Amino acid sequence: MSATTSLDQKLNLLKSMEVFKILSDENLECLANECRELVLNFGDDLFREGDPGDAMYVVLSGEVSIKKENTVVALRGPGEYFGEMTVIEEKPRTATVKAVQETRLLEILKDQFLTYFASSPQMLMSLLKTGSERSRENLKVLDQGMQILKAQKKINSDLHHLIDDTTNEIYLFDSQGYHFVNINSRATRNLGYEKNEIAGVTLFDVISNLTPENFEDLVKPLRSEEAEEVTFNGLHQRKDGSTYPVEIHFKLHNDDSNLTFVGIVQDISQIKELERENINLTFYDSLTGLPNKNWIIEELNFALAHAKKENQSVGVLLMDLDNFKIINDSMGLSAGDMLLKAAADRLKDWTTSNSRLARYGGDEFIIILSGISYEVQAAKAAFSLLKLFREPFLINGQQAIISLSVGISYYPMDGDDGVSLIKDAGTAMYNAKKEGKNQYCHYSSSMEVQAKEQLVLEGDLRRALEQNEFVLYYQPKMALLSDTIIGFEALVRWNHPTRGWVSPLDFIPQAEKTGLILPLGEWVLRTACRQMKTWLDMGFTIQNTAVNLSARQFGQSDLVPMIVGIIEETGIYPENLELEITESVLMGDAESAKLQLRQLCGIGIKLSIDDFGTGFSSLSYLKSFPLNNLKIDRTFVQDITCEEDASLALTIVNMSKTLGLKTIAEGVETEEQKEVLKSIGCDFIQGYLLSKPLPVEEATKLLSASR
Ligand code: C2E
Ligand code: CA
Ligand code: CA
Repeated sequence: MSATTSLDQKLNLLKSMEVFKILSDENLECLANECRELVLNFGDDLFREGDPGDAMYVVLSGEVSIKKENTVVALRGPGEYFGEMTVIEEKPRTATVKAVQETRLLEILKDQFLTYFASSPQMLMSLLKTGSERSRENLKVLDQGMQILKAQKKINSDLHHLIDDTTNEIYLFDSQGYHFVNINSRATRNLGYEKNEIAGVTLFDVISNLTPENFEDLVKPLRSEEAEEVTFNGLHQRKDGSTYPVEIHFKLHNDDSNLTFVGIVQDISQIKELERENINLTFYDSLTGLPNKNWIIEELNFALAHAKKENQSVGVLLMDLDNFKIINDSMGLSAGDMLLKAAADRLKDWTTSNSRLARYGGDEFIIILSGISYEVQAAKAAFSLLKLFREPFLINGQQAIISLSVGISYYPMDGDDGVSLIKDAGTAMYNAKKEGKNQYCHYSSSMEVQAKEQLVLEGDLRRALEQNEFVLYYQPKMALLSDTIIGFEALVRWNHPTRGWVSPLDFIPQAEKTGLILPLGEWVLRTACRQMKTWLDMGFTIQNTAVNLSARQFGQSDLVPMIVGIIEETGIYPENLELEITESVLMGDAESAKLQLRQLCGIGIKLSIDDFGTGFSSLSYLKSFPLNNLKIDRTFVQDITCEEDASLALTIVNMSKTLGLKTIAEGVETEEQKEVLKSIGCDFIQGYLLSKPLPVEEATKLLSASR
């Protein structure tokens, strides 16, 4: 047997299992990667009845036995799972599991289970189905035993053994006075009677909602021999008065002299519990404990009906966490979940009696403000929500700064039905994102117009490359020690025939979405490298030109050969090219990005992390990538003259030194900012203080002037 099961083998096995069908390939792979593999030798116990547990298991190879009260009730082999009830219900183990040969298991911890499955009703349904199928199997085995005994007509003496070994509750009672004549230990235990007490107990003590008349009606087919078995769903009452739901199969046994009824009882509280959870799932989000989308829509309709009667306003605030994906991708799904939970808790604490909060889906939350009289109350609420998120979150010991974008719509101004109000709030939320995130935005009908304009823009983009409408601007970077220009960052501009200059912030996302970023990115690289060569040929002693690469370009398999080709074709040295990438590149498909980055670095091309500090800061993953520079995001530079922000910037600079990286501060606009940056040991600066991005002729003039 090999040391571990290969990922492919695990994946093939998991994919063949019904319960995992709901997971995407990507999630399945994460799960297979994350979960520990356990090896049991023959005879090893995995856990024993009564043990606490926080994991379920999938058998990869080998076989285990499941034993309840010393009886093997099942065997589980490759492609089967067990132990799920403990994970769902947090109850101790109800069985002992032992390896009957060398066995490999995939251990799915409760946390992982919650991450991947808990929000999925399908998953719970699927578990539920398996659960009830398993009880049915149990009953079948029991039934066979009964048949044999019936043939032997030795029911009272031998039944005792058999019935005590099963996982179901079983009792026998006489057909006249309905007194119990035999009962297995599982039943006495669950019902709370001692064995010697049962002679005084009748069926109707246990099933209190059943009368002798009802019962006789129920078992008429048994007495008339029309049926061998009747099934009844009812409530069992314990000695202490508490109850539990059961499914009972009644049989009539003719034991020569007297007629005896047999009740084979299954405690179905677990199943009922799951069913209830499943109902809850239609209104609740299990991760955050908040109500979900379905609930809030009903709640909104209710609030609207009320507001119409009372002549009041209703505000809808749709919130989306900014850059949540980066955190999710970089710190892992479970960290992402922790963050969602923490965000939900913060929002929960914020809500008052006239606000309703729900998780709308993904990283979106929604708040409904009812009984408000002025629009400005919603704006005030949005503002205080933004403030609420200024405090960083602590996730797994790491600080994560995450802001909100909030979209607001109102009844009666923006619409009078729930669906369109939420849609409008969504449009406003996207607008808040577009305007730079971490802000709120009111819905206005012009946003729809803007959305349409975006569509037109997309069409125009396709044409723009052919028509040579793109231009590169160059923004100088300066070394703080020598006060000299060391190079430029190339920034693309679009000279649109009718709209004039369009900002890259407006068309880069569109170009990424449509895939146009690939030819556009190649054009930018070629143009910037050519220009670098021209400057070098003119005798300027600058080190490099930086080009922004978007995450989408890293998905390209021929990215490295393309860049190498451009370097050769333009005749610059690899060191003359710097590539700026954002943290999301490192996160997306990290392994293949790592490979491409290593190749680029190996050639001698310089690599920078752009916009560093937006979202979160994590040393651990930066360490594993070959990088040269770290660009401190503008937002950190803005208020750097205040002490708190200066210490934050200092932390970044120090951290970057630890990693052997140089730091570049972006967006430096004032002399004071420059001085602080110099004093904390930052290497380079870039920003309006030196110059705005310049057309090529002016950039060249700047170089000449500083020679
Ligand atoms: P970025 O890479 O963070 O570029 C810096 C942006 O900050 C530039 O905006 C620049 O004009 C602006 N900036 C520079 N100094 C200052 C300053 O002192 N104060 C302020 N307030 N802003 C300053 P720009 O040119 O509009 O570019 C915006 C973003 O578009 C870039 O952000 C980059 O992410 C993207 N982008 C630009 N060109 C390209 C490109 O060729 N390819 C790709 N993939 N993205 C690009
Ligand atoms: Ca950049
Ligand atoms: Ca930047």
